[in-house]
Amino acid sequence: MAPSLSHYDLVVIGAGPAGSTAATVAAAAGLRTLIVEKETFPRFRIGESLLPHGNGLLRELGVWDKVAAAGFIEKFGARFHAANGSASKEIIFANGIIPGLEKTYQVERAKFDALLLDHSRETGAEALLATAVTAVEERSDGHTLTLKSTDGDAREITAAWVIDAGGRDNLFPDEAKRRLEPEALDRRVAIYAHFEGVPREAGWRGGHTAIVRLDDGWFWTIPIDAARTSVGLVTTTSALRASGLKPEAFFNQTVARHASTRALLGDARAVIGFHVTADYSYFRESFARPRRLLAGDAAGFFDPIFSSGVYIAMHSAREAARLVVRAHREGRDLRPAEQRRYTRELKKHAGVFLKLIRAFYDNTSFSVFMCPTPPLALDRGVNSIVAGHSRLTWPIWWRFRLFLIVCRLQHLFPLVPRIPLGDRSAPAAVPAA
Ligand SMILES: Cc1cc2nc3c(=O)[nH]c(=O)nc-3n(C[C@H](O)[C@H](O)[C@H](O)COP(=O)(O)OP(=O)(O)OC[C@H]3O[C@@H](n4cnc5c(N)ncnc54)[C@H](O)[C@@H]3O)c2cc1C
Repeated sequence: MAPSLSHYDLVVIGAGPAGSTAATVAAAAGLRTLIVEKETFPRFRIGESLLPHGNGLLRELGVWDKVAAAGFIEKFGARFHAANGSASKEIIFANGIIPGLEKTYQVERAKFDALLLDHSRETGAEALLATAVTAVEERSDGHTLTLKSTDGDAREITAAWVIDAGGRDNLFPDEAKRRLEPEALDRRVAIYAHFEGVPREAGWRGGHTAIVRLDDGWFWTIPIDAARTSVGLVTTTSALRASGLKPEAFFNQTVARHASTRALLGDARAVIGFHVTADYSYFRESFARPRRLLAGDAAGFFDPIFSSGVYIAMHSAREAARLVVRAHREGRDLRPAEQRRYTRELKKHAGVFLKLIRAFYDNTSFSVFMCPTPPLALDRGVNSIVAGHSRLTWPIWWRFRLFLIVCRLQHLFPLVPRIPLGDRSAPAAVPAA
């Protein structure tokens, strides 16, 4: 379907969680808003585990009741395992410092993203699917965008504002997206699929995310409906390359090598082909220009170990849309200070997760993370961050600081028992890819 107008107040590139959030906020504020999405919906996406702190955002958008009624699996926490099965730690969100973060959902993204997109349409946004934005040209009072549909039709539209929520794809040469700050973590690759037959814990714990920390990466299981579970492996690109194996064979070999992954997967089988995502940690240098903002993965993306991607994408998109709405009403560009603040605040927000991610990847600090009974209830602060509360209010701030200090000290003195990570002593038979 062609857009009904050729000029919009706001064009949003991409109908992932960031794009639909931005479009809902802008349309609710009365801006003529168009979302342009290159795929047809529903479409597969990875990133199925939500964080409880995002519930407030879903409520604010007016979509919470629809999410709650959609039949998604309830998620009350997560369980982390050492690879050899020697240690495990359960995080129950209700035990965190911040009340109101007890539960959220594990979502099949095809269904969740379609639900958010439909909601933005009901709020007043238009959506154009199966159409890619292939160029964005900046003008003094906005932008000209070139659109190309999957059946080859090309056309131009204009917009006063653009929010680029196009995720990690970069389909057009764009000054705003050129400069990157690579994250200082090892280059990693994720190999994943949906499985059936993955064993689950009994009762409400059956909705937990399970994570196994391996010596050079990690492994996840996330239940997405009664039958299917999202299962994936994150490893270093160098380990995959050195193995000489195809990604699926490497996945199978890694699962077979570790007691915890073997136990978690049982006799499960993949029901879709394996997907591979490589080199995914980066930030753009700046997220805002006078009439254009980057939101969600288009602005930056880092390791998904703590399931922060969708929450950060929606949070950034809401902030971006609020800035656009205010400046549009006042008939002006974004001020340089607003552009800087938007970038700085989002990087600060993401920085809290990054500190936790570095602790998780550090073999020594991982033992502190896994400690079942740390002093001063430090883990209750970490628990709230794992639930998505990355705004460091005092009760979380001091516990998190102390947690990071204990992690550093653990390198000098074993304050908590060390957890061995590798488990390569007794490999089981490696299934063929
Ligand atoms: C292995 C892995 C596991 C993950 N696990 C989790 C998890 O458990 N929980 C979590 O919260 N996050 C997770 N994430 C992160 C999560 O997937 C992303 O952070 C999230 O999808 C970002 O949303 P977004 O809206 O910014 O981008 P996307 O969801 O990527 O949406 C972008 C949309 O833009 C469209 N698009 C792109 N370019 C154009 C264009 N030029 N024109 C038109 N349309 C365009 C795309 O088709 C797409 O639909 C994971 C990521 C990876 C790689």
